Amino acid sequence: MRVAMIGTGYVGLVSGACFADFGHVVTCVDKDASKIEKLKAGVMPIYEPGLDSLVANNVAEERLFFTTDPAEAIRDADAVFIAVGTPSRRGDGHADLSYVYGAAEEIAQLMDGFTVVVTKSTVPVGTGDEVEEIIRKTRPDGDFAVVSNPEFLREGAAIKDFKIPDRVVVGTEDERARQVMGELYRPLFLNETPILFTARRTSELIKYAANAFLAVKITFINEMADLCEKVGANVQEVSRGIGLDGRIGSKFLNAGPGYGGSCFPKDTLALTKTANDYDSPVRIVDTVVEVNAARKKAMAGKVIAAMGGDVSGKTIGVLGLAFKQNTDDMRDAPSLDILPALQAAGATIKAYDPEAMTEASHLLKDIQFAKNAYEAAQDADALVILTEWDQFRALDLDRIKAALNSNVVVDLRNIYSPEDMAAKGFAYTSIGRPAV
Ligand code: NAD
Repeated sequence: MRVAMIGTGYVGLVSGACFADFGHVVTCVDKDASKIEKLKAGVMPIYEPGLDSLVANNVAEERLFFTTDPAEAIRDADAVFIAVGTPSRRGDGHADLSYVYGAAEEIAQLMDGFTVVVTKSTVPVGTGDEVEEIIRKTRPDGDFAVVSNPEFLREGAAIKDFKIPDRVVVGTEDERARQVMGELYRPLFLNETPILFTARRTSELIKYAANAFLAVKITFINEMADLCEKVGANVQEVSRGIGLDGRIGSKFLNAGPGYGGSCFPKDTLALTKTANDYDSPVRIVDTVVEVNAARKKAMAGKVIAAMGGDVSGKTIGVLGLAFKQNTDDMRDAPSLDILPALQAAGATIKAYDPEAMTEASHLLKDIQFAKNAYEAAQDADALVILTEWDQFRALDLDRIKAALNSNVVVDLRNIYSPEDMAAKGFAYTSIGRPAV
């Protein structure tokens, strides 16, 4: 099959490279010429484990191509994927569909022969209808079908998630499109991945329902953590105690500073907007959006309290800036709320992240960037762990202690044990676990 991928970001690039690895011929298009130049030179524009060799292999095998010219990709394609961004629209929180509609216009002008137009971007219910109308307007005689195929990959584990997914969801009622989609995903039949064919609107809603459910789960355990702190219980044991119940499941029950990232914040918000538009509010999601936003803001207060209530003139070493480990993605990262609040309270921030510092330097002001975790801790009045990168899980604690000006460590990811930290002489604060 010949595939065009419109949008070569976290989703488009990974999906394109994985489809190529399945044996399809894929051309990835992006408007951003610098991204395409980098890719042509073999440089990855994002950090995603394993992506560089996957891309290099498929480029060498002549199955994966990059271009800024949509015509080059779309003309001969059996399937054209729309994998452009759908950020929150400024002002009202609805999904901004301008990039999706822009891509639909381009596809309409360039497609040739029967073309399956696949929306991989996360889009509100009814967007497929709109994309179909846009294309139909330009090409009243066009032979095409618009399909919804939401993406569930997680940054940091994106290749594995794409190649060994829990399920693939395809929303279409067009038989020819169904066959093309079946052919594209046929390599997954080998590992018996469930492929769920649904109506298009159902498929669009599945993606939002999935993200909202996960956001509810995280927010639930975060509130349990707050309660644990008040009643002297341990949230990690609560998580394990409830997660072993098969109806609940143990994943997504790690308490932390509040969810961030490129999907949950915007998708939960967009779902509440859609639900309100249809006069069918999802009040549990409304609450989750509100609680999570407040939580990220409250985390600065937790750090200030751990430092004795006043951080003015103090230096805080920070480990991790990305919204989670194994990515350089800074979109809606908790660090973007927490660090400016600490600066506003008078603190100086010295931070280290293995991959996200370049991106962070565009989004955060007046941060000193360190070369490694120990440099971030050097002469700081406290150390704050914001992201659970593997390399922060087994730090040389004696070296950290010697580097710090104090013994205060605030671990917003619960990667250390309160007992071990107390034994080392740290004044250790974590989330939802009694201090020792
Ligand atoms: P991204 O911002 O990393 O990439 C989008 C790319 O599209 C950009 O490089 C942009 O230049 C390009 N683009 C925009 N309009 C274009 C056009 N007309 N032609 C060519 N290129 C164009 O976004 P992303 O994180 O890959 O997300 C894409 C979609 O996938 C979003 O709807 C998102 O919600 C969804 N999604 C993301 C993830 C994730 O983990 N990032 C997971 C699942 C679903």
